[in-house]
Amino acid sequence: MIFRQLYDQQSSSYTYLLASRSGGEALLIDPVDELADMYITLIQQLNLQLVYALDTHTHADHITALGTLRERTDCTTVMGDHTRAECVDIKLAEGDLLDVDGIKLRALFTPGHTDESMSFVLNDRVFTGDVLLYRGTGRTDFQGGDPYKSWDSIVNKLFQLPDDTLIYAAHDYKGWTVSTIAEEKQHNPRVAGKTEAEYVAMMNALNLPDPKLMDIAVPANLACGRKAGTIGI
Ligand code: FE
Repeated sequence: MIFRQLYDQQSSSYTYLLASRSGGEALLIDPVDELADMYITLIQQLNLQLVYALDTHTHADHITALGTLRERTDCTTVMGDHTRAECVDIKLAEGDLLDVDGIKLRALFTPGHTDESMSFVLNDRVFTGDVLLYRGTGRTDFQGGDPYKSWDSIVNKLFQLPDDTLIYAAHDYKGWTVSTIAEEKQHNPRVAGKTEAEYVAMMNALNLPDPKLMDIAVPANLACGRKAGTIGI
């Protein structure tokens, strides 16, 4: 399998490129619009064909590349079925499989960071978006975020995966690149040894400023990164 973790310095976002083989079909998870040229160049260099571009949730801190990649490569755009982004071609429900040349991603509905966040399980790894981060969890104070749902998604869904499952998150601000379910169960300071009530109180007390790009990024991302109104959606 071809697997690449790509990083956007401006928004501290991770994007993942997956393909089963050179010459085959590829998938991008959580691509960032500013880096579309880099993704397309890499995909050409690896002799791949981009068939899917997928977002785990509607991002508030960067513009998605879904619309740009669809225009430039004719790929299909994908999100979970709770998204309000009507421009998305395929909306996956919990348990649905996305097959990319034999690579099968399974959708796992994990709301909490937003009310439409999906995680995607692939054999030994899970792409958690921002619901579960490395030694952290995604904020729950906008876009339908809910600390009770976040707790439920982390403890009752993600932590039910095998302990050695690798975690690949959509963000990191400190230099982490990967973790495992066992590690986060044991060492995630927001969850390990905490009760649901303690977690909810902590999340409700974070008082974080809104992301700088939020007022631009959310409406743009509901149109797959294209500003609503400019291309008729
Ligand atoms: Fe997010």
